[in-house]
Amino acid sequence: MFDIKKKKAFVCDLDGTLFMGPNPIKPAVDFVIENTNSGRFNYFYLTNNTSKNPSEYLKKISGAAIPVKPEQILTPLITLEAYIREHGYRSVYLVASEAVRGHMTEQLADAGVKFEFNPEGNELMALAYDKELTYEKLRRLAVLWNCRGPQVCPDRAIDFVATHPDNCCPSEDGPIPDVGGMLKLLETTNGMKPNHVFGKPSPSLLAPVLAKFKPEEIAVVGDRLYTDKAIADNAGIDFVCVLSGETTPEDLRNYRGTPPAIVVNTFNEVDA
Ligand SMILES: [Mg+2]
Repeated sequence: MFDIKKKKAFVCDLDGTLFMGPNPIKPAVDFVIENTNSGRFNYFYLTNNTSKNPSEYLKKISGAAIPVKPEQILTPLITLEAYIREHGYRSVYLVASEAVRGHMTEQLADAGVKFEFNPEGNELMALAYDKELTYEKLRRLAVLWNCRGPQVCPDRAIDFVATHPDNCCPSEDGPIPDVGGMLKLLETTNGMKPNHVFGKPSPSLLAPVLAKFKPEEIAVVGDRLYTDKAIADNAGIDFVCVLSGETTPEDLRNYRGTPPAIVVNTFNEVDA
């Protein structure tokens, strides 16, 4: 049974939950604004998309008049930053847009991390959703794996991670390639595979929330069963399914997994 009285924090998906493309879903957004201002709930905002900096999501959310701080934005770039720090990596080949590479360089300046292509020195290669992807970047990833992959270089094998698993990104012109598709291209090339894939449904993305709240005090709110519900299930926390995005009542009828904790038309109805 879903009990809103026990909840202190909601982790909200953006598209289909609070926004439909660029437009806010008004009742859901009003609900968030009201409870942010009253301090009744804490909100976090979840996105797998690593083609943009967290600051661009800040702009989008605050553009809908929701009061928001940088630490409320959860993107796999935060997981990547924590991962680099944890492992003490200093030399990383990051395939990402210029803006995202600049952001990561700034975030990790204090740790002296260099984002560079250095076949001898690179300790990690990381693939983000790079909308400026070139053949040369793909070639370099393959070359690093060929000369430093676990098969040829077991002692000092290069680590490999990807920011999220999505095969495609929805667009107004239909699905377009995302990190999952790029990973398939690389795997077909020489068998290379990442050691970790961050982002939904990996619960690693929720680490900053779980550090502050108990699982029973948190709920994930989203419109996709295979990403939003999956991350909630993987972290052992309640899932609020909204019907304002991708999932339809028919999808729910056909769904074989454990049902969501609660199903609502729009997020605000969770408090009905
Ligand atoms: Mg969504």
